[in-house]
Amino acid sequence: MSVSKSQNGLIQQAASLIKNAKYTIAFTGAGISVESGIPPFRGENGLWNKYDASLLELDNFQQHPKESWQLLVKLFYHHFEKAQPNAAHYALAEMEKNHFLKTVITQNIDNLHQDAGSKHVLEFHGNTRRQICLSCGDIIDTDEINLNSLPPHCEICGGLLKPDITFFGEAIQEPANTYAFTEAGRCDLILIIGSTGEVYPAAFIPEVAKEAGANVIEINIELSNYTIQLTDLFIQGKAGEVMQKLTEFLKISTSHSQT
Ligand code: NAD
Repeated sequence: MSVSKSQNGLIQQAASLIKNAKYTIAFTGAGISVESGIPPFRGENGLWNKYDASLLELDNFQQHPKESWQLLVKLFYHHFEKAQPNAAHYALAEMEKNHFLKTVITQNIDNLHQDAGSKHVLEFHGNTRRQICLSCGDIIDTDEINLNSLPPHCEICGGLLKPDITFFGEAIQEPANTYAFTEAGRCDLILIIGSTGEVYPAAFIPEVAKEAGANVIEINIELSNYTIQLTDLFIQGKAGEVMQKLTEFLKISTSHSQT
């Protein structure tokens, strides 16, 4: 575990803010899953440096489903199948269990918070483990479809299947959208982990929390859009390492931690 002395002091401060808070929520982005082997979209080693993001625009998906699906399988399904939660996911689950955390609002679509044991998770951008039929609206488990023949189609009506995630140009699903902003408006502490703050409307969530008077703690390996504008306490470091240390200061154990 490589947490420096200066980071230690900041993490201790974070623990004491969390202990004194009445309603803490976490807001997580792709960075929390990097130590699980899932690359982020942006930043160093970001997927959009290599691939065409426009294939995940809804119009493009409908016009070129085979090409979009080939990218989806490469980006998500190959990486996600092998990925396991890391110490940061387990730490949030333990914080919830020990009443230090009410809700995780995640932009991620990888299900790793639930795999780690978090119970109250709001999936702001959906989940790749579900598919939706664009014709009849049926929802199907991804495990039940054949990803060797692309694009997959609905067994009921023959319509095109799409991962139940928010594509560029699509509205955020309800009720996750309403619940997420309600939680942001009522919390007194928000823990932002591994998010650039570039994807809207998700990026408004910490802004709403700050406006409602919440303390903002941020963990990221580099500065984000939030760091200067919103963050009260910035801890520069890897999510898994910092969160593992945070649970030590909160005196809760993460027996499942992997990092
Ligand atoms: P992003 O891809 O835009 O940025 C990732 C952020 O994580 C950056 O700020 C980076 O500095 C930080 N980071 C990288 N490694 C880290 C680490 N080890 N510890 C802490 N921070 C680290 O991510 P975003 O802002 O969450 O937004 C983008 C969109 O990407 C979301 O809509 C989400 O659906 C999607 N996405 C999800 C996954 C996933 O489900 N795991 C993966 C890729 C993209």
